[in-house]
Amino acid sequence: AVHSTWRHPFKFTFSDNNERVMMSRLAVVFGGSRGIGRAVSQLLAQRGHRVVVLSRNKETAQVTAASLPGEKHLGLSCDVSKEEDVQRAFETISKTCGTVGYLVNAAGINRDALLLRSKSEDMLSVLHTNLLGSMLTCRGALRSMLSHGGAIVNIGSVVGVKGNSGQCVYSASKAGLEGFTRSLAKEVATRNIRVNLVAPGLIRTDMTAGLEKEDAVRRIPLGCFGEPAEVAHAVLFLLESPYITGQLLLVDGGLQLAL
Ligand code: NDP
Repeated sequence: AVHSTWRHPFKFTFSDNNERVMMSRLAVVFGGSRGIGRAVSQLLAQRGHRVVVLSRNKETAQVTAASLPGEKHLGLSCDVSKEEDVQRAFETISKTCGTVGYLVNAAGINRDALLLRSKSEDMLSVLHTNLLGSMLTCRGALRSMLSHGGAIVNIGSVVGVKGNSGQCVYSASKAGLEGFTRSLAKEVATRNIRVNLVAPGLIRTDMTAGLEKEDAVRRIPLGCFGEPAEVAHAVLFLLESPYITGQLLLVDGGLQLAL
């Protein structure tokens, strides 16, 4: 016999010999087509969840969705910085896939430059994508999660915690996400919705292409860039941890110790 050991409905069930019983959920991954988001999508699909992959480029989202193990995954186009895009995406999701269980916000960009050389349009793009974008997608997902519970993971950065010269605006967007995550966690906890933040260090993706030089690697205590799959494991851990909310988890090979 299978019994629930938890108070809330959006919790895991365990069999009599205490093995976790898989419950398939609908997972929505913004920025899921490449890099960290793609690795998260793959891991969620491997665990038997149905995944909706979203990115600005529809084709890449669809190709990634089609490459995931299992069936019924969906690739959609959505620019998270545009309210109407996010609204349309959630309408499509609720019509075709049902209730959202997991939300991961991995869509992000950088336009690194010293503040004096930063253009306002670049500053707004970074803030609109990294910060406002996650607010819009969280709001969209909450409408679906309010009645059933759910779990959200936002992707921050070690730079949001420690700061970095040449990344003022990017750092501010990620630090903002940290405050947003904690506040939202408080706001929705009674509805059995958890909100956490994973803050990666230097991870090998398109975003860091060309940065993997000897002096950058030497600063990392574990001595190498991280792989997207290594971040994905932390994301999955927080999505699946029924008693963790409002938490920041650094996945940075110890980089924060060196900054
Ligand atoms: P990539 O550049 O490899 O991938 C970014 C993803 O986000 C792509 O799927 C991209 O698809 C999507 N995306 C970008 N802008 C938008 C948008 N406006 N709307 C919807 N989707 C968008 O980046 P990473 O995988 O490296 O980064 C993922 C997250 O992790 C980002 O938030 C980043 O800031 C953060 N991070 C990354 C680190 C690293 O070392 N790589 C370190 C710390 C944090 P498309 O272009 O088609 O829209």
